[in-house]
Amino acid sequence: MSYISLYRKYRPHKFKEVVGQEVVVKILKNSIINNKIGHAYIFSGPRGTGKTSIAKIFARAVNCLDNQDGDICEKCANCTNDIDDEIDIIEIDAASNNGVDEIREIRNNVKMMPSNLKYRIYIIDEVHMLSTSAFNALLKTLEEPPSHAIFILATTEINKIPATVISRCQKFDFKKISESDIINRLKYILSEENKTLEDNIIKLIAKLSDGGLRDAINLLDQILSLNKDVVEEKDVYDLIGEIDLNNVFDLLKYITSGNIKEVIKIINNYYDEGKNFSKICEKLEYLIKDILIYNNTDNYFDKEYENKLFEFSKIDSTLFIKMSQDLFDLNYDLKRSNNQKIVSEIYFLKMTLNFNTGDKTEEKELIKETTEIVNKTVNNSNENEKIEQEILLENKKIIVNNCLYEANKQLKIDFTKQFEKIKEYETDKKYNMLSNLLSKSIPEVVGNNNVLFTFKNNFEVVLFEKNTEKIEKFIELIYNKKYTVVSVSNEEWNEIRTKYINDIKNGVKYEYMELKKMPRKNKKNTELENSIKDIFGEEYIKED
Ligand SMILES: [Zn+2]
Repeated sequence: MSYISLYRKYRPHKFKEVVGQEVVVKILKNSIINNKIGHAYIFSGPRGTGKTSIAKIFARAVNCLDNQDGDICEKCANCTNDIDDEIDIIEIDAASNNGVDEIREIRNNVKMMPSNLKYRIYIIDEVHMLSTSAFNALLKTLEEPPSHAIFILATTEINKIPATVISRCQKFDFKKISESDIINRLKYILSEENKTLEDNIIKLIAKLSDGGLRDAINLLDQILSLNKDVVEEKDVYDLIGEIDLNNVFDLLKYITSGNIKEVIKIINNYYDEGKNFSKICEKLEYLIKDILIYNNTDNYFDKEYENKLFEFSKIDSTLFIKMSQDLFDLNYDLKRSNNQKIVSEIYFLKMTLNFNTGDKTEEKELIKETTEIVNKTVNNSNENEKIEQEILLENKKIIVNNCLYEANKQLKIDFTKQFEKIKEYETDKKYNMLSNLLSKSIPEVVGNNNVLFTFKNNFEVVLFEKNTEKIEKFIELIYNKKYTVVSVSNEEWNEIRTKYINDIKNGVKYEYMELKKMPRKNKKNTELENSIKDIFGEEYIKED
């Protein structure tokens, strides 16, 4: 016989078996008892909290010919039929397709009477994944549903559902399932399966599944299939790709002592072991929060934990606050990046560097190392990327040419006068980085549409180039006018100027040139590069 997962085996088949969601169940049962059944429902809430299970139970209960206090009787003709074979209960997973065809089909068939049951039920799972046109089609159907049709829309992201759709539905909010409810359910399953687990492991499963019963049961399933006599907490963490508290402490120790080699080694190991970096960030954030609480209160935690926290109490709190912002940013970038390893490495380097109070030469060396990582990524880029790089370089020359062609003294004076305005954004959340960077530059050549900035240091030019689009928007904000911008180092500028003067002497005429078009961007690498730019931005600026 094939193996049936515990989740499927213990999935509730009637309201009585549902864990948690008492309010939802009560209202649905009452609507059946009082025969006040709506035609469109929306079930929203976190994953694994029973939305689809309850939708299926409701679908059967409204069709039960002899309902028992609103629940299914399990005996009548409609109840005994296998739900998976029931042609009047239609399940659509919007996540696996954008649903236009399915919704159109619903629109065409919805008027037809059900074949076997009283009501034809449409359950649309992950409904937020529907495309706009599918939503529009759905809306048409929801506007005048026939009396025999019931729609149940389930979603984890209610904010993505058009208000016009929500307003036509009865809305039910599914809550996370409480730890004690999950623990009780896991204990029940264990006894049914004739298995045992230590209480601390059951509690840990409940805690880790964060209110999602499905996740909890699936994790239990995996743990049982390890076939270990004694399951330890570490086994659980290994299974879910997380690290246990001792590892979190170790990692933080290395970060706060500025031990870059060890931090990178650990990060690489975690990556190879397939650990979940988002979760690692979260755990570090929790630990930092606890350290800050410990530093400012007495007897808040138990003694054993406090002894561990004590080790970090001598460290400047502002460094932890900074680190917690970096963790937050890392977590955000992890979700957007296709190269989690390099993004994690760079952030952890940055965090460790912040705690590294050693002499400057060492720090410079470390920044060099970090820069090499960035270069490695860029060099790993594909052919398309290389062409892009060449075009960028060529375009830079073209913009410099256009600046020289357009150069106008009065425009430069006017531009420079207003340039002080960038200082007003020094503390602005969105623009502080650009404001800081530009304040180190001089608008050297100004024309009607082009501006050339000079910087003392080359890395500022690199940073400028990586943020050109943002800088152009920022400049537009200040001058209320679009400029194409370019930057060069003082050294480069000396060469450009010398050549320009010679050219003019020799009667060489400068002409306006069109910029070269970029080939279609490779999304993957652009995303990665963007995150690197974002990470490196401020660090470099602060270096000077
Ligand atoms: Zn029945």
